[in-house]
Amino acid sequence: MTLLDGSGSDGDVECRALRGRGQPNVEDDLAALPPLPEQDLCQMRAEASCGNSLVLFLIFLFVAPMQAYANTQANLTMLQRAWIFAIYAEAATAIFCLLGLMWDDPGTIKRTAENCFPLPDIVAEKLANGQSLESVGNVTGEDGRVFCIRCLVWRPDDGGNTHHCSTCQRCVCEFDHHCGVFGRCIAGDGCGGNMGYFKTLILMGVLGCGTCVSFMVVSSAPSGSYPRHRVG
Ligand SMILES: [Zn+2]
Ligand SMILES: [Zn+2]
Repeated sequence: MTLLDGSGSDGDVECRALRGRGQPNVEDDLAALPPLPEQDLCQMRAEASCGNSLVLFLIFLFVAPMQAYANTQANLTMLQRAWIFAIYAEAATAIFCLLGLMWDDPGTIKRTAENCFPLPDIVAEKLANGQSLESVGNVTGEDGRVFCIRCLVWRPDDGGNTHHCSTCQRCVCEFDHHCGVFGRCIAGDGCGGNMGYFKTLILMGVLGCGTCVSFMVVSSAPSGSYPRHRVG
């Protein structure tokens, strides 16, 4: 291939990107690739702020009335103590899942020698000529895998479940959706990726609501509401 001769204006850099897997200086090959597309960090941060605020607000909403009631009581029954322990355990689990959702990788396909090389011919040619890849669509390889033209990575053969998120601007395995509340891609098969955090967080919201409402209903029932027997 003439492109490998390095006759272009930036021949050395371009040819390193074209050598492919198994060749020396793979790190240089990866570094020679165009940068990853810019993420919409402004939108992601705004969404994440919304999600974090929502979770913290719900924790306060469910914990505060129970704790306030407990503070007014000289003695709590064992059941009430267990109820209060449950709401704090649910709140701690929710915060743990929120942190996992914010910081854990949902399954982004990283640029590595195995994921990037060999480049499809059309991509290698465009890069060698210093041309834009905007007019090039995703490329399907002979083995059926798809090469993302924006991330410049080969997606795994997972039945087409890997998608490129237009907000995060990354290819994510087992993509489910981009969550507009938490500003993160939600991905993973079953509880893989960050799906476990997401599902558990929602579960804690439901449980927290149930725990708080049931505690307040039972605890606020007037003690004299039991049926009275007439005497005499
Ligand atoms: Zn991609
Ligand atoms: Zn996303």
